[in-house]
Amino acid sequence: MVMGQVTEKSLLGLQLPELASLVEEFGQPSYRARQLFDALYRQRVQSSEQISTLPQDFRQSLSAKGISVGLPSIEKKFVSSDGTVRYLVACADGQSVETVWMPEGDGGELGDGSEAGDQAETAGRTWERAAICVSSQVGCAVDCQFCLTALLGIKRNLTAGEIVGQVCAVLNDQGVSLPLHRVNLVFMGMGEPFLNYDNFMKAVHLLVEGVGITESRMTVSTAGIVPALYDFGLEPVRPKIAISLNASNDDLRTRLMPINRKWNLEKLMAAAREFPLRNREKLTFEYVLLEGVNDSAENAREVVELVRGLRAKLNLIALNPGPGIDFRTPAQERVLQFQNILRAAGVPAFVRRPRGRDIFAACGQLKRTVELVS
Ligand code: SAH
Repeated sequence: MVMGQVTEKSLLGLQLPELASLVEEFGQPSYRARQLFDALYRQRVQSSEQISTLPQDFRQSLSAKGISVGLPSIEKKFVSSDGTVRYLVACADGQSVETVWMPEGDGGELGDGSEAGDQAETAGRTWERAAICVSSQVGCAVDCQFCLTALLGIKRNLTAGEIVGQVCAVLNDQGVSLPLHRVNLVFMGMGEPFLNYDNFMKAVHLLVEGVGITESRMTVSTAGIVPALYDFGLEPVRPKIAISLNASNDDLRTRLMPINRKWNLEKLMAAAREFPLRNREKLTFEYVLLEGVNDSAENAREVVELVRGLRAKLNLIALNPGPGIDFRTPAQERVLQFQNILRAAGVPAFVRRPRGRDIFAACGQLKRTVELVS
């Protein structure tokens, strides 16, 4: 937004060296950069007025120059019966994305033997751990046939600040304080993170170094952008990787995910085989089960062949339905049959419990769906 000579500028998204040049421009001592960094990412302040470590005149000159924190605002919030919260998060230009909060173990729902003293409390609810599902783009260009986000098309990339900002806004809303060792991040919201690679990786660094979430608590999911997969493997600091497989052969995959024309299963699986896994790390493959399309015993056996020899696990997701999506959700027996074939062949396979389907917060249902549920 341009107002005369003054350009609206966000602090959120800036790394320490960028903040250092900024404070220098304002004639401030260099230690102010660290103060800004901590205020933005550790304290997660909403406005520069709240940065009490900074002198009043510096705060004022920041606002006078149109420089603000740039924390995205929460426009709407939907709460599911399972505790999941879907946030509609608004960016400065009026675009919005969705971010999902998924608490686990609320009210003992998990029953995994964790001690009560190990629970965190937000807004009167307790949870043992939680995951935030983060968006990387407004809309998506990949056009997977079973995903609601695809229907939006691609509007634009999110900036690093907008990616980090979703996490800060949700943590603030949930009243989560430091340390954040029970919070996981999944980059599985709207968009294809690997088609916004630089901003996504910049956000990862800010989340690790600033917000304080370790990279081993983060997972990024890709539809299979093969060149980015090779780059990603070389990153010294990176989340774990999940690959959306969703089909057991090329014909089927091309039908479901047109991106398979560009990077087919041979190229994708070659990249997966060459991916430099860390100690004890596994590749995750996601597989959305569509009734009568990709959920047969034969499909399961083809998947076994595809992943043979890989240190990998499969996450099976029964389709989350949505308006405009021409597929059906398979019955539970069908899902279990698929899982059993994988397991019998020695491939670890897990059925993902859908989260927040009643509020359209589940995988593939994010579409700025104010009109669907309000
Ligand atoms: N673009 C990235 C991340 C977003 S999708 C990717 O493709 O991986 C996150 C996961 O949700 C993917 O594994 C995708 O296959 C799955 N998904 C998409 N639509 C879905 C739907 N309608 N039901 C269940 N899972 C879906």
